Amino acid sequence: MAEIQLRNVSKRWGSFVGVKEFDLTIADQEFLVLLGPSGCGKTTTMRMIAGLEDASGGDILVDGKRINDLDPKDRDVAMVFQSYALYPNMNVYDNIRFPLKVRGVPQSEHDDRVKRASAMVELDEFLHRKPAELSGGQRQRVALARAVVREPNVFLMDEPLSNLDAKLRVSTRAQIKNLSHELKTTTIYVTHDQIEAMTLADRVVVMNKGVVQQVGTPTEIYDNPANTFVAGFIGSPAMNLMDGVLENGTFTAENINIPGLTTGHNGPVTLGFRAEDATVADGQSQANSQVYSLELLGEATMVTMRAAGTIISVKSGKDYRVDIGDSVSASIPASICHLFDASTGDRLT
Ligand code: ATP
Repeated sequence: MAEIQLRNVSKRWGSFVGVKEFDLTIADQEFLVLLGPSGCGKTTTMRMIAGLEDASGGDILVDGKRINDLDPKDRDVAMVFQSYALYPNMNVYDNIRFPLKVRGVPQSEHDDRVKRASAMVELDEFLHRKPAELSGGQRQRVALARAVVREPNVFLMDEPLSNLDAKLRVSTRAQIKNLSHELKTTTIYVTHDQIEAMTLADRVVVMNKGVVQQVGTPTEIYDNPANTFVAGFIGSPAMNLMDGVLENGTFTAENINIPGLTTGHNGPVTLGFRAEDATVADGQSQANSQVYSLELLGEATMVTMRAAGTIISVKSGKDYRVDIGDSVSASIPASICHLFDASTGDRLT
């Protein structure tokens, strides 16, 4: 059982704010992903939970007990880092066993626990090898097993897949999700990769410049981004965003005109829509333009075009073909549009 509460947790170095008043309760057994661009404060948040960094303000509680002043070794958390620092002269077995020795777990339990942890990450055949005799993915799995063997209540994982190639990332990702489910551990996972976040998380926390932008399930964040930062960060491609003016329910920007928007707001706005919600159209449509580029995705074709002073993407059928420079139009019905305040970036509807 491990419910983690962060109550207005902050980190400052002099006048620089690395993390600003992070306030969230992470449920027992939840898989929470901290997502955001480089430098947004993800790692610092994790390090404060692990006890590797002191919080400048606020309280960190595990199951209702304040742990701010506990030593890292006395916190029941296991961390997996991006750089997985294995001991080069120890074989896989001893690397995995190491945390048990350090924590004074009775010798009689070691063998069982190492074997169970290594089986979970499918390393049973490699126990006698040294780290240098393993592939990058296998080494990463040793690091995972070393965290698993402790049977902690909390896993903290900081970009644990970033050194793996694309294929291995996908399979190890599934393995991590499965492990946290099987071990019933509360997991906090840091990544800047939004696909990783969407596939792993029960809830995602999107951060920017030390400030939490939105907390929600992957679907909530994808379907209802709280502001233009989240809209522009989530999705592949991210949401199309265009600046323009809203007047009596009609959005206008250069050659674009989208009527039928139901909002009382008038004035400058940012309008957003997702590439897969719009369609490339021949007849009447809201944006006429020239094709800027065409990307074949296999299951679809991504058409990008210039519109309203920016480049927008529209997903089309897999067999759709046009040339760069061809005239094309996009149909962007009001029903697929998201509206944001032009100055604050906050969602309007
Ligand atoms: P990345 O994805 O690049 O690891 P991150 O979101 O994990 O980024 P953090 O490592 O948490 O970012 O850093 C947050 C901010 O705090 C950054 O701007 C960083 O430069 C700053 N920072 C981190 N450690 C210190 C420190 N010891 N002193 C001063 N500033 C620091």
